Amino acid sequence: MGDAELRRVAVVTGANRGIGLEICRQLGRRGGIRVFLTARDGTKGNAAAQKLCDEGLDVEFYPLDVTSEQSVKTFAGWLEGTCKRCDILVNNAGILADPRGSRFLDSKPATYRQTLDTNVFGPLLLSQALVPLMKKNRYGRIVNVSSGQGQLSDMGAGTPAYRVSKTALNALTRVLAAEFAGSGILVNSMCPGWVRTDMGGPGAPRTVEQGADTAIWLATLPDDGPNGGFFRDRKPIAW
Ligand code: NAP
Repeated sequence: MGDAELRRVAVVTGANRGIGLEICRQLGRRGGIRVFLTARDGTKGNAAAQKLCDEGLDVEFYPLDVTSEQSVKTFAGWLEGTCKRCDILVNNAGILADPRGSRFLDSKPATYRQTLDTNVFGPLLLSQALVPLMKKNRYGRIVNVSSGQGQLSDMGAGTPAYRVSKTALNALTRVLAAEFAGSGILVNSMCPGWVRTDMGGPGAPRTVEQGADTAIWLATLPDDGPNGGFFRDRKPIAW
């Protein structure tokens, strides 16, 4: 298949709403990409994918709970059998489980476990399952949707479990970027800024379009694009 006919396959996690849904929309609008909108809830995921199909986009739904090894394994096996490729993985699914205004001394170990399970083990499991497919074609783009709250250089108080999880996600980005360097796979972290979603709340200054922009840029990088970086507004930011 020549490059002109090649249809890339993209997988976006936690995409039934918020920034993930918008990432699917913008990837779909680019054309030449078969977008798999994944979500843990079948009803919500199907409805979201249908919405994008109604907008004329090439988007399909597949159920995927990023905290379930079985769910990830089933999805990866199905993708390998059906598409035989995975070119783009956007690890977007995330939770902010710290109670509002929570501080370290009040925080519960269970909150950290639940948060790390979704925000770190999710991307870890998906990467382990899908990178072999990327390696086959010597092409891959992994985008880890992180947060400025995970920056060690700007670490603050509050939401401790979320902060720790996003710092760990950034570490995962660096490890994968080093492991796959030179294999055609580029792995980067990004911060969407403070975005109006269920997580960000109605007072956030950014739209989902603005929040998704850097993820789209990283998901479609040219072969000589950056690897192992952390970006906001398409510019490098400190770890
Ligand atoms: P959101 O509106 O709360 O959406 C989060 C998405 O993740 C939902 O679709 C949710 O699905 C999904 N999800 C949660 N646990 C999952 C699991 N186990 N398996 C699969 N999907 C799961 O949040 P958002 O603002 O769009 O955030 C998207 C990403 O951006 C997150 O990683 C977040 O940390 C990051 N971020 C957001 C902001 C902001 O201001 N909004 C700022 C910095 C970083 P359900 O509907 O089933 O719950």
